[in-house]
Amino acid sequence: MSIWLYYGLAIAVLLIVVISVFAYRFAMLLQQLHASEERWKFALEGAGDGVWDWDVKADDVVFSPRYCEMYGFTDDDVTLKSKQWQERIHPDDRERVRIDVQAYLDGETDHYVNEHQVICKDGSIKWALSRGMIVSRDDEGKPLRMIGTHADITERKNIEQKIRMMAHYDSLTELPNRILIDDRLKQALAQARRENKSLALMFLDLDKFKPVNDTLGHDIGDVLLKQVAKRLQLSVRASDTVARIGGDEFIVLLPTIDQTQDAVIVGEKILETLNQPFEIASHKLSISSSIGIAFFPQDADDEHTLLVNADTAMYHSKNAGRNNVKLYSEHMKKSN
Ligand code: GH3
Ligand code: MG
Repeated sequence: MSIWLYYGLAIAVLLIVVISVFAYRFAMLLQQLHASEERWKFALEGAGDGVWDWDVKADDVVFSPRYCEMYGFTDDDVTLKSKQWQERIHPDDRERVRIDVQAYLDGETDHYVNEHQVICKDGSIKWALSRGMIVSRDDEGKPLRMIGTHADITERKNIEQKIRMMAHYDSLTELPNRILIDDRLKQALAQARRENKSLALMFLDLDKFKPVNDTLGHDIGDVLLKQVAKRLQLSVRASDTVARIGGDEFIVLLPTIDQTQDAVIVGEKILETLNQPFEIASHKLSISSSIGIAFFPQDADDEHTLLVNADTAMYHSKNAGRNNVKLYSEHMKKSN
């Protein structure tokens, strides 16, 4: 055997040893990487968050057991294409999530955080706080993989919703309260000014409501107020707002009214509706109401004056014998 053959063999053996060492080191590194990934995924899961892992190029999303459990999914649902994933986002939030994810992928934002509703497997809705980050990119810097978490924030969202409701809605009738109607009136006035249109504000007070409380009790009075609220809502359009501003006083905002006569027609329809007897706990009750109406821009230019003038017209309606509708006029102001 020539010496060259020995050299050749020695070099081949050396190459095999070197390649084996590199392959072993590489395998160890991958194992370590996998182990460290498992560790932080485990830590995130331990904190109660579900983990999602999105292979951007292959468009596969893998979910952790906690994630699946959170939304009632099983092991069969562990991997999805991102489109199927998007379909589990509530339609109200889908577009906003898409925009936020894209902005982060395009480098327009430095982090991805989003609160949205997820449709669970059983069709119920949960609120999620979703966070994510790109963990690998290709040579051109394009995102290859994004990992993130989902935290269940349903309880917090429900409490926030309750607080919002309490701040803006009357707890007895569930109608908007004074704060919300003030806000809606401000917005409606701004729009009417912009579009050179008019609007009507109706002030309504039930007639002789106190005797209902006095003779049948406060609870029956409460039920009557609730039923009045329902009838009022059914008497107007969805674009109108009915509010309870206290006691037996209600406001109806008609933001798109062309002629004063149209508002009078609505007022008379309300009178007629409320005149129909109410049946509460085997009692047949009759009630009427007095209504005053003021218009923008004829009667007032700002929300406060509009409310005061509608209230003034309502008092004139009471003084005229109740159960009728009065339009505000300058002469009422003088005689008040
Ligand atoms: P008028 O015809 O002049 O309007 O007299 P009224 O008897 O309707 O009495 P008024 O409008 O002056 O007062 C409303 C009454 O509504 C006073 C109060 O006893 C009663 N009230 C106020 N808030 C509530 C409530 O939340 N529930 C019940 N049941 N009654 C209420
Ligand atoms: Mg009253």
